[in-house]
Amino acid sequence: MSISNNIRYFDEKLKATDCRLVAVSKTHPVENIKEAYEAGQRLFGENKVQELMEKYEHLPHDINWHLIGHLQTNKVKYIAPFVDTIQSVDSLKLLKEINKRSEQLNRTSPINCMLQISIADEDTKFGMSYDEAVALLQSEEYRNMNYIRITGVMGIATNTEDINKLRKEFRYLRECFEQLKETFFFANPDFQEISMGMTSDWELAIEEGSTMIRVGSGIFGARDYSK
Ligand SMILES: *Cc1c(COP(=O)(O)O)cnc(C)c1O
Repeated sequence: MSISNNIRYFDEKLKATDCRLVAVSKTHPVENIKEAYEAGQRLFGENKVQELMEKYEHLPHDINWHLIGHLQTNKVKYIAPFVDTIQSVDSLKLLKEINKRSEQLNRTSPINCMLQISIADEDTKFGMSYDEAVALLQSEEYRNMNYIRITGVMGIATNTEDINKLRKEFRYLRECFEQLKETFFFANPDFQEISMGMTSDWELAIEEGSTMIRVGSGIFGARDYSK
């Protein structure tokens, strides 16, 4: 299948759902992203700052770029002028920096941020625990931030074919979302996204309430890291 056919396939699959597609274009060249763009895709995800900056330069500016990989505080400044959403917010320190840069830039809209919650038992390197997310949202510092908008939660499930395990992890992220919604965003419609599900498990993720699936190889083909 071609990239444009893959985009149309997902459009069709998601039509009757509340779920949107983030086309994860990491490692793939600009021409391939253009093909997806021409098929109507506007929401793209990258996991590295440098790569995202280069692609941004060469592509139409009505693309909504989501950063989905770990972000170092000292690199926020490079993407703050144009990024739509940072899905991988995993500390108060990072959020403070995003807010600061957003303020300095006089952006027309705040930078959207999602709290990355660690849901896999193998990879706890990035992402916060639920309790850490609560502590962040309770902090005085967070409550004084006016240049960011928290739009939901993001999680990366364990790399496994064990459906029960995946379902449990997705369900846990949804529960985190519901709890945070009730406690901190009750009357706030901005907080609405649950980003979960990738090429191998997006259907399961939608069954468990995903509002945003992040699909890479299922659209662009396998990644070649040797190039
Ligand atoms: C690479 C990546 C994806 C997409 O993975 P595929 O298995 O190719 O769909 C999704 N989310 C994150 C955070 C990623 O880094």
